[in-house]
Amino acid sequence: MSYVDEVYERVVAQNPAQPEFHQAVREVLDSLRPVIERNEEKYRKEALLERITTPERIIMFRVPWVDDKGQVQVNNGFRVQFNSAIGPYKGGLRLHPSVNLGIIKFLGFEQVFKNSLTGTPIGGGKGGSDFDPKGKSDREVMAFCQSFMTELYRHVGADVDVPAGDIGTGAREIGYLYGQYKRITGLYEGVLTGKGLTYGGSLARKEATGYGLLYITKEMLKANGHDLAGKTVAVSGAGNVAIYAVQKAEQLGAKVVTVSDSTGWIYDPDGIDVALLQDVKEVRRARLTEYAKARPSAVYHEGKGVWTAKCDVALPCATQNELQLEDAKALVANGCIAVCEGANMPTTQEATEYLMKNGVYFVPGKAANAGGVATSALEMSQNSMRLSWTFEEVDAKLHDIMVNIFKNIDSAAKEYGMAGNYVAGANIAGFLKVATAMEAQGVV
Ligand code: NDP
Repeated sequence: MSYVDEVYERVVAQNPAQPEFHQAVREVLDSLRPVIERNEEKYRKEALLERITTPERIIMFRVPWVDDKGQVQVNNGFRVQFNSAIGPYKGGLRLHPSVNLGIIKFLGFEQVFKNSLTGTPIGGGKGGSDFDPKGKSDREVMAFCQSFMTELYRHVGADVDVPAGDIGTGAREIGYLYGQYKRITGLYEGVLTGKGLTYGGSLARKEATGYGLLYITKEMLKANGHDLAGKTVAVSGAGNVAIYAVQKAEQLGAKVVTVSDSTGWIYDPDGIDVALLQDVKEVRRARLTEYAKARPSAVYHEGKGVWTAKCDVALPCATQNELQLEDAKALVANGCIAVCEGANMPTTQEATEYLMKNGVYFVPGKAANAGGVATSALEMSQNSMRLSWTFEEVDAKLHDIMVNIFKNIDSAAKEYGMAGNYVAGANIAGFLKVATAMEAQGVV
């Protein structure tokens, strides 16, 4: 049995009932086969794959808090410190009822490679809780966050582990978590990213994931002889990533004709009016029907269907598994040439395979949405220097990071005889940096 298969079987046996973690390990290890086969004896002796698939540390804890009725509630808290070979652990805190250890391990494992790709010195981690902030009062959210941090503070720090936001953890939650960390430790340090601009947050962090997605898309198209300017783009989602993806695509001369939310989607042949979209989603927090009401050129469609719109470039920016096989077929039939993932894992495995087999350029989220965590790393740098860069300075650094990510995934794919396979290129480039650092640091 090959070393890759042996390690995969070991992961499944040792981590029962964690299907998402198994899936993430399988996907990464499969695309690493050419690299592992070249160095099989050495890696096996070093147990490198066993080590890289085993978190350095898992912290699980009780989070008791009192709700508005005086009832004590108990949630499960997690922090998986997966790999610190290239820097302090870094990754978000997810607050959602679906959170369990397997999900946090899958996200933490993926984060190791994504963070490595950014070229910034950050290791991989992830955390969260099965607490659901939806429908809770501000006081209840604060009570939960304070209790969560009362345990977590002893395991994190600006040079140790720097959590950030994720699903359910926005500016409000980061503020409460930061306040409690400062209160307990007495330290005013960059222990969290995604902070407000008045207490150490970075300009351009809000825009970073969407802007970064467009920077890498433009670079990838250019390398393949295409120009983003003049292209018709379909975007899904209407949240943080989608809004700033639309804005940057339009600034770069493309026309964005769709956005979507969890109830329906908009087709706007005149191009999405981003100021109106921001007003509807960021200010009024309303449905997309409000966008259609205010814009005569726009048509609102109930339910799914965003990928049936004719486009040259598709940017899924909503949620996991939103682009399925039938969507991929529609995109190919309509002449789409590129799919770049703004969301995490928005394209199913079968859809990805179909797109790639049909010659569609495909950039996986690990590379394409890395602008968010890269800018979090820039927030850490500014905190350490006790300086704030201007919007333009951060944006320029983000741009360089995304161009470099593309160069790295492109050349890794070429080096291993898989030119144009950016899924393999991203996994290989992310892996090699971490593996080399682990080897240099000995058996730890
Ligand atoms: P938001 O919550 O701001 O936006 C998500 C958007 O997707 C909303 O418009 C939401 O609709 C829509 N949506 C959610 N579920 C569905 C569904 N089932 N079908 C159609 N639309 C849906 O999240 P973000 O924009 O921050 O994140 C989007 C994705 O990008 C996630 O996968 C996230 O993990 C990933 N990501 C985000 C980063 C960041 O910096 N924000 C960094 C890297 C990755 P509605 O408005 O109705 O809720």
